[in-house]
Amino acid sequence: MPELPEVETVRRSLLPVRGRQIIAVEVREPRLRRPLPSSFARRLEGQTITEIERRGKYLLFHLSGGSCWLAHLGMSGALVLQPPDSELTAHDHVRLLFADRWLLTYNDPRRFGLMGVGRADSFAEIARLGPDPLGETFSPEDLASRARHRKRPVKNLLMDQESLGGIGNIYANEILFHAGIRPGRQSRRLTRADIERLHAAIRSVLGNAIELGGSSISDYRDGSGRPGYFQLRLCVYDRGGDPCRRCRTPVRRTVHAGRSSFYCPRCQR
Ligand SMILES: [Zn+2]
Repeated sequence: MPELPEVETVRRSLLPVRGRQIIAVEVREPRLRRPLPSSFARRLEGQTITEIERRGKYLLFHLSGGSCWLAHLGMSGALVLQPPDSELTAHDHVRLLFADRWLLTYNDPRRFGLMGVGRADSFAEIARLGPDPLGETFSPEDLASRARHRKRPVKNLLMDQESLGGIGNIYANEILFHAGIRPGRQSRRLTRADIERLHAAIRSVLGNAIELGGSSISDYRDGSGRPGYFQLRLCVYDRGGDPCRRCRTPVRRTVHAGRSSFYCPRCQR
C-alpha cells in the first residue's frame, strides 16, 4: 500500500501537469472504495491544475476554479502521466485528457482508491488528519504530547492517521527499528530520550525513502511509471527469521492490531 514516501514521490513526478487544462474526463469504472459521484467528470472538465499538494497519504490537485480534486491511491492505485494516444490497459478506471492531448490515467486493480472534487476543507478525511511528519511544525514536543496518555502500542500511534498523517505498516516497522524501540511498547512509557530518537527516525526514514523514490512492494509505480528502490534498504519489514542487518539476531515477527510487526529483539527495547 502506498504510504507517505510513495505518495510524495507520485506528487513530485506529476508536477508537470501544473498549468495543463483538463478538457475531458472518462470514468470507465466508478466503483472505487466509494462510488464516484455522477458529477465527478463535469466538475473537473474545463479546469486547469494549478498545484499538487500532499496531506498524509492524500493528493490534492488544486484547480483554477478554487476547488480540489482529492485522490487516495488505496492499496494498489497508480496515477500515471501518459503521452497522447496511449492505449488503455486493464484496470484503467479514470482518464483525464489535457488540452495538449496528454493523459493522466488512474489504474487500480483492487479499487480501494478514493476520489472526490470539492473544497480542500470539505473533505472529512483531510480535516481529521494529524500533522505531517515531515512538516516544519512537527516537533518532538508534539510527538510527546500525542504519546503521553496512550496505553496503546507505539506502533499503533505511528499508524493512526489522526495522530500523524501518512505512516503505514512498512514505515512504522522501519522507523521503530531505527529508533531502537519495540513495536509493542506502550506509548506513554516512552522516555524523553525515546521520543527524541523516534522523532529523528521518523524524519530520516521517510526522508531517505523519498530520496529513493519510495518502496516498490507489489506493483507500486510513480507518475512516470518508475519503481522505487527503498525496499532494498528495508531493515526489518517482511524479514521475519532473517538476520538483523545490524547484529545478525533473527528478526522476530508478531501481530499488533491485525498487522504484522517485525523487530530485532536485541536492537529494539
Ligand atoms: Zn539487531
